[in-house]
Formats: sequence, structure tokens, C-alpha cells
Amino acid sequence: MTLPIKDRFVLPEGMIYLDGNSLGPMPKSVVGHLSAMIEEQWGQHLITGWNVDDWMGQPLRVGNLVARLIGAPEGSVVLGDTLSIKVYQALSAALQMRPQRKVVLSDSGNFPSDLYMAEGLIAQLNEGHELRIVAPEDVADAVTDEVAAVMITQVDYRTGRMHDMTEITERARDAGAVTIWDLAHSAGAVPVDLTAAGCEFAVGCTYKYLNGGPGAPAFIYARPDITADIVPALSGWLGHDAPFAFEQSYRPAKDIERMRVGTPPVLQMTALEAAMQVWSDVDMQELRAASLALCDLFIAEVEARCPDLTLASPRESARRGSQVSFAFEHGYAAMQALIARNVIGDFRAPNIMRFGFTPLYIDEGDVRRAVDVLTDVLDNRLWDDPAFRRTSRVT
Ligand SMILES: *Cc1c(COP(=O)(O)O)cnc(C)c1O
Repeated sequence: MTLPIKDRFVLPEGMIYLDGNSLGPMPKSVVGHLSAMIEEQWGQHLITGWNVDDWMGQPLRVGNLVARLIGAPEGSVVLGDTLSIKVYQALSAALQMRPQRKVVLSDSGNFPSDLYMAEGLIAQLNEGHELRIVAPEDVADAVTDEVAAVMITQVDYRTGRMHDMTEITERARDAGAVTIWDLAHSAGAVPVDLTAAGCEFAVGCTYKYLNGGPGAPAFIYARPDITADIVPALSGWLGHDAPFAFEQSYRPAKDIERMRVGTPPVLQMTALEAAMQVWSDVDMQELRAASLALCDLFIAEVEARCPDLTLASPRESARRGSQVSFAFEHGYAAMQALIARNVIGDFRAPNIMRFGFTPLYIDEGDVRRAVDVLTDVLDNRLWDDPAFRRTSRVT
């Protein structure tokens, strides 16, 4: 199999989609699966679907499909809820594992929701924890013996800067801290080997590079040897060891299913399960090589042709995920002008134009055509139009 595999995706005619880092396009396999599920399973089987169609086993079954892409063993990943919830669960479990320590270490490149969830958890615990936010390059040195949990997103959503998972996890282990990796911009984008890294927890979402669709459930991984000791903060019935025993009191499931909370979103999970078929024969090393080639080409072309833009991503490809960002004073309007011309990226405040490159459905020709349009937008000041300055609710 050689990349790209565009024929596995529904891609609108003429569109160059450089936003798969935010919402992946729809794999063709989703359409048939989801409509069959709705008509046959939901429509005809109704409540028996929990058993006959094994809706109940889906969070773990799909977890195994995700596990393969992130170097996790079978049975160590489960799907459900949103990433913000999974961050909360992982951090809460981590803090329970280190009751004497009071510092949660994160960095200023982390996605705000992760930091907000940490703030909320700390306030609720009311046990004197501190959220310590350092610059991304200072994380490894900031892991002291006060740190209970190191909670880091591997690839920076704004700039694409990528942390060294092995190094930080090792430093954390040496200092006796628990490590949580957020793989929101890693899963399906770069090779990840959680087993080799040895971290305790990982979380991520599936609507970005995994193409599960808007609202697709998040995943959580726990290292198999610690799972039995995790104290779940969100002790919902589907994380119970015997949900249908309807016992008075919570007793966590023995395995990763203790990180489940309530009823899974079966429609979303079905879309995701179908979307995961895309990966059956994709080699992550090959994908990485193709991704870097596209990103390097984009950087070279933009720098040669768009002097007003400043690279906001690491130049060194090993330190970058699968996206490239450029800073530009009029970035918001310029991105709107690009979108109006069917080149889809997005904008992140204050001035970042963000472009995701997914070799599954983007090739060199797309990169060159995107830069042609970008050059036109900049050279002819096409962004300088009131229509492109109007901000929407979602940027
Ligand atoms: C996309 C993203 C989220 C989004 O969380 P949801 O709860 O799924 O909305 C959280 N954290 C990171 C690092 C992200 O990139």
C-alpha cells in the first residue's frame, strides 16, 4: 500500500483539506456502516442490540483498534466521553497514586481545556495541589520530587512542536512522578509507542487524525500493571465490575473498563469503528516519512514565496508533529480568504495560521496548489476585505 489513499475518503471536489488535525474528513467506510447500524441494529434490534450487536463491548473493541496505533497492548485502551473528561479521570487517578505530592506539572503549550480541567480538579480536591505551568522547553528540568503528575500534550496544538516522550517520561519516572500524555495531535499523526515509553496514562481524541467525526469519543490508556489499583473519580455504573448486578455500592471493573463511566455513544462509536478501517494496512513509519516530506515542502514553498509569513513551528522536522503553523498579523482574515478559495486550514489566536498535513489524503500536488492560492491571497491582499474580518463562533 502506498500513500496517499485518497479513495478511502469522502473529499469535496476541488477542496484542499489541511484541517484534518482539527476534524478529520469522513472515511467512505463510515457511510454504509452507520446507515446499516441505524436501520438494522437500532431500527430492528432495538434494545437487544446491546447483546446481539455487542454495543456493550464496543468501547473496548474500538479501544483495541486505537491501541495498535499508539503502541499499547490489547485491552489497555477504552473509548468514551470527551477528551476533557478523560484528562480529568487520568489526572485524578494520578494524584491518588501520589498522595504526598502536591504539584501537577504542565506547560504553556498545553491545550487550555487540559489546564482548565486540572484547575477544576484541584479546586474540588481542596488538598493544596498546585498547577505549575512552565515553558515547553523547561518541562524535563522542572520534574522535581514535589511533582505528583506530569500532564503534557505531546504535540502543541498551536505550533506543532513535539515533545520527546521518552525523555520526559524517563525524567518523571526517575523523580517518582506519574506521567500522563495527551495524544490529541499524535494518535494517527506520528508513531507512538506507549509501551516503550512506559508512561502510566495516555488520553486522546478520535475526531482529529483518527477521522471519527464531530463528537467522536475520546480514549484513555492505563499501563496494564497499574490498572487494578486505579481509583476512578467518575464512578459510573459502566465502570462497575458488574453493572447489571445493580449493587448498592461501586466496585470498579478489574481492567481498563473501570475508566468507563456511563452509556457509550453507540452511533458515534460505530462511525469511529468504521473509520478505523482506514488504518488496517497503514504503516506509521511510512506515514511519518510522508508527513514530514509534505510539511518540509510546505515550509520551503511558503518561505520562498510568502515573505510576510513567519514560521511558528519548529524547523527541525524531528521536533514537529504533522502540522505547520505560520504567524501573520492578518492571519485570521487571510485564513478566511483561503477558505473562501477552498483551501481549508484554521486560525488560532493571536496570529497563527495553522495547516495540518495528513498523507492519507494529501499529496505533493495539493501542497503546491495550496501555496499557489496562499501566494495569491497575500500578493493581492485578498484578505483585506471586511467579509474576512468577521469572526464566527468557531475559528
Ligand atoms: C482537541 C483537544 C481537546 C479537546 O477536548 P474535548 O473534550 O474532546 O473537546 C483537549 N485537549 C487537547 C490537547 C486537544 O488537542
